[in-house]
Amino acid sequence: MRIVLIGPPGAGKGTQAAVLSERLHVPHISTGDLFRDHVTRRTPLGRDAQRYLDTGELVPDTVTVGMVRERLARPDARHGFLLDGFPRTVPQARELTTVLAATGATLDAVLELTAPEDVVVQRLLSRGRPDDTEDVVRHRQRVYESRTAPLLAHYAGILVTVPAVGPVEDITARALAGLTEAGAA
Ligand code: ADP
Repeated sequence: MRIVLIGPPGAGKGTQAAVLSERLHVPHISTGDLFRDHVTRRTPLGRDAQRYLDTGELVPDTVTVGMVRERLARPDARHGFLLDGFPRTVPQARELTTVLAATGATLDAVLELTAPEDVVVQRLLSRGRPDDTEDVVRHRQRVYESRTAPLLAHYAGILVTVPAVGPVEDITARALAGLTEAGAA
């Protein structure tokens, strides 16, 4: 199955994606992880992306879409994936539709994780990744609201919304129940 995870930074997409990917037998593809890997390996793409990661801005679509297109073309993603962090804008969503359509594929569900801003900001500040300083964290929340939240309407027909506060296992159970109900798991 092909699933996209959406939610504000700190909602726990990565945590849930890791568990769900095992349960659903599809790869977890995180654009944040792909970018950080490029930065660590000091690739040209990593050098382009670094300043956006540092400030919490979105990496330009030309860079991001190319990277995702390449990742989705790998054999392990052919029969399904859990996409975490992409699409993050409506143009990226359109690109994803086009990429999938080339092989006759479509998304099965968009899983939205919700949590109050105070909760997600606290989680990120205690995580302590280099881009988790208070200013950058707050900026990423604003970017989410203005650029990514409009995707919820775009995907209204296949949206599964799950409150993401409480024990990790409870959230996983709610997500699996919602995906099953939507016919996606
Ligand atoms: P978080 O969900 O905590 O913001 P991520 O690991 O998903 O963390 O993303 C970290 C950074 O990577 C973002 O702030 C952004 O700079 C970049 N990024 C990740 N996904 C995308 C995307 N789809 N488009 C543009 N930039 C992205």
